[in-house]
Amino acid sequence: MRDMLIERVRLAHEAPLVDLLIQDGRIAQIEPAGLTDDAAAVREDGAGALVLPGMVDAHCHVDKTLWGRGWVPHSAGPVLEDRIANGERGRAQLGLPSRDGIRALLEQMTAAGTTLARTHTDVDPDIGLRGLELVATVAEELAEVIDVEQVAFPQGGLLTRPGTAELLESALRQGLVGCLGGIDPAALERDSVRHLDLIFGLAESYGARLDIHLHERGTLGAHTMELIIERVLRHGLEGRVAISHGVALVEVDRAHSERISQGLAEARISLLTATVYNTPVLPVAELRGRGVNIGAGNDGVRDLWGPYGNGDMLDRTFHLAYRNGFRTDEQIAAAFDVAVSGGAVALGREPARIEPGAPADLFLIDAASIGEAVAARPPRRLVLKRGRAVARHGSPVRAS
Ligand SMILES: [Zn+2]
Repeated sequence: MRDMLIERVRLAHEAPLVDLLIQDGRIAQIEPAGLTDDAAAVREDGAGALVLPGMVDAHCHVDKTLWGRGWVPHSAGPVLEDRIANGERGRAQLGLPSRDGIRALLEQMTAAGTTLARTHTDVDPDIGLRGLELVATVAEELAEVIDVEQVAFPQGGLLTRPGTAELLESALRQGLVGCLGGIDPAALERDSVRHLDLIFGLAESYGARLDIHLHERGTLGAHTMELIIERVLRHGLEGRVAISHGVALVEVDRAHSERISQGLAEARISLLTATVYNTPVLPVAELRGRGVNIGAGNDGVRDLWGPYGNGDMLDRTFHLAYRNGFRTDEQIAAAFDVAVSGGAVALGREPARIEPGAPADLFLIDAASIGEAVAARPPRRLVLKRGRAVARHGSPVRAS
């Protein structure tokens, strides 16, 4: 790959213009504009744009998406069980998971500046491991464009759907995934201890990470969090487990919430939030202040669970910042950091950084600051993955 010289960009609000030299997929040099001399490099005029690190969609479901096809009116009933049933019914009718849809959504995410994604793929006796295999195939095709990590996800339940646990184990044994999902051990599965012991046992046997969907509310969800914390500490899985959603934390009284946060911080359990619909929002500043890592993700994008979403992590950051009541650039930058460092830490990866030596996972955006980038969300001027231009002006660059 030829060197790339990105000229005349800024690293922060009102910072002087600099040039970024990209070599071998990494940021080799950052110098004041006009000083870098690399005659062999491909030149890119940054035109004063802001350079930001690639974002992490730490919670999505690309296997479910209807992205790239005509409008499908929402058809599910109002509660979680309705959506699960509707998703399973509809997927056969609509040909899901669809290779074209998965590819189109991942490319869309990339074009918006996401360079790493964790996607939960449904596993159940009906679909078996087909979804995991399909997502793996597309991820392989896009390996130079975006890093994709899959979670084998028992969407319909593990205990309530006999045969699912064996499939999850098979996915781990085959090396299809390195992360296992779980879901509402009490509210859906009606047996928290058995559900959690099963997935923690598998995680221990196969050295897998865990990411548990926890929609349970109030004291029920808080109790499940306590059971998860206990097991992380007991199995020595600190830093390898995430709880997705986890809104119960904001529904219990303050002392209880503080106690659980302390446990999450001690067990280094990350919280992954999508901040969608009318669910309570995690208080970012407070939780980070208590030492809890938070990442963010788009969750479902245009699927049988809901008609919204566009795969843009700056949009997700906007919702997180807005609903947290953030107004200052500093506050909004903290929400953006959730979408960059928080997600990376949750996935056990190095956060993307704009500094010499770091992988060139970054994007250029016509904004004065992170605050403006999140408030206005203009198309991304250029997106690089390991130094390769993968999108321009909001559209994927296809390899010719
Ligand atoms: Zn989800």
